[in-house]
Amino acid sequence: MSGSPITAIEAIPLRIPLKPDLRGAALWGEELTAADSLLVKVTTDDGIIGWGEAFGLYGTALAARALDELVAPLCLGRDAADIAALMDHVQRKLHVFGRGGPVSYALSAVDIALWDIAGKRAGLPISTMLGGDGRAMPCYASLACYTEPQRVRAAVRRVVDDGFTAIKLHESQLPAIRAARDEAGPVIALIVDAGCAWTLDQARAVAPDLHAVDMLFLEEPLWPPENFDGLAELRRSTALPIASGENIGTTMEFERLLDAGAVDFVQPSPAKVGGITELRKVFALAEARDVAVMTHSFYDGPGLLAAIQVTAALGGADAMIEWRWFDLEASVYGAALAPTEGRVTVPDGSGLGLDPDPDVISAYRFGV
Ligand SMILES: [Mg+2]
Repeated sequence: MSGSPITAIEAIPLRIPLKPDLRGAALWGEELTAADSLLVKVTTDDGIIGWGEAFGLYGTALAARALDELVAPLCLGRDAADIAALMDHVQRKLHVFGRGGPVSYALSAVDIALWDIAGKRAGLPISTMLGGDGRAMPCYASLACYTEPQRVRAAVRRVVDDGFTAIKLHESQLPAIRAARDEAGPVIALIVDAGCAWTLDQARAVAPDLHAVDMLFLEEPLWPPENFDGLAELRRSTALPIASGENIGTTMEFERLLDAGAVDFVQPSPAKVGGITELRKVFALAEARDVAVMTHSFYDGPGLLAAIQVTAALGGADAMIEWRWFDLEASVYGAALAPTEGRVTVPDGSGLGLDPDPDVISAYRFGV
């Protein structure tokens, strides 16, 4: 054993309510009243604490159980500094439980926390460790689904007034999408996340109307999300700019997505795909194929910071950060991480740059 062994790994589920003043928020048919997230705290024997995040949404309990029962036992006592070797070890041991989903989300959280620890030990933010210069990153407001055009308008108005110049909708119905464009005006960049709503034929049929709305890209138009050939065909036959990748579990699957010519923008999700270790590999694959990376970060904790730190170092000129805009009554980093005029400053503390606000953790921790 060399370096500094991992002595504790703790899952910390949070539930933060939405403010009640912008009603109707939902995601894929499920009403939203709160945002659940799963923070993971990793401690080393010399007392350094790193923070990670597993993709949560409606599944924080599953990811927490995968962490406690499968991932953590393989990590405790191992060297915190040899991240790549540990992640390879865990992936090989757990591959029989699937190469994606809650096991991967739990693994992602540990990886992000270990990068946080490595940065803290080096006294450097992760973006600097990866060769970046800590510039402010442009970000887009990623809205919940509101479906009804008047509610979509209200949400769009709110974020435009907040200074965002790019907005993602989680809408697949044309009246909602058109209402957003109408409310936003012609200059705001619109992204439409269809949430895997359509077959290839259905997407082709709606493509002229989507073109008319003018969007930066269309995200996950097809069911199932791993229909890479279908995405490539949609892209070829409609010239709609296509984005996908948040539901891909492995680097090799990303290689297949890219080699299929399926996307204009590739969207690895740090809290799903295996943390910063795997995220860096996807950036390299995308760069070699001249495809832009737009990380997925539909969360607001260490996973978001991982996306910010890595994109600041490795992202192209057009890269933007997904800023989940849920109108919550509190957030993991509070005022320490908040966009101004559609840009977020890359935190310059060591590691991820910021630790979660302990008052938010004690106020919103739930479950165990
Ligand atoms: Mg999405």
